[in-house]
Amino acid sequence: MYRIGYGFDAHRFSEGGKLVLGGVEIPFEFGLSGHSDADVLTHAICDALLGALGKGDIGTHFPDSDPRYKGVSSLSFLREIVEMVRASGYEIGNIDTVIVCEKPKIAPHVGAIKESLARIAGLSANELGVKATSTDRMGFTGRGEGIASCAVALISSRSE
Ligand code: MG
Repeated sequence: MYRIGYGFDAHRFSEGGKLVLGGVEIPFEFGLSGHSDADVLTHAICDALLGALGKGDIGTHFPDSDPRYKGVSSLSFLREIVEMVRASGYEIGNIDTVIVCEKPKIAPHVGAIKESLARIAGLSANELGVKATSTDRMGFTGRGEGIASCAVALISSRSE
């Protein structure tokens, strides 16, 4: 049995913080604001996997009102959710993502981001898509206010 899930997230740029995408720190003049490390790409993937499982969203499992999650790496959320997928009798088929921003240039970091996420998700590099686009200077990403990300995930019941 196959199930798919979709996730979307957006975070605002902030002065002074770190910019982390897929667990990789990207050198840039702004960071992203958010309760954890504000890793907008990893959050979208977490929501896609939870959607495929039919088990709520990242806010249900890791509420930003909980001080335990302040400043933590979002890869720890992903690690737990990948474990939930396995514990529910599924395996991840593939994950595909898009990062939406005007700046910074994502292309030089795609390899590192894929490697970081694939390791946690137990996928090979060609099972984890990371693409980037601008919105042609339209909208909040086009004005450089922040970064958005979307992700889809396919899971299938494990044959044993
Ligand atoms: Mg988020």
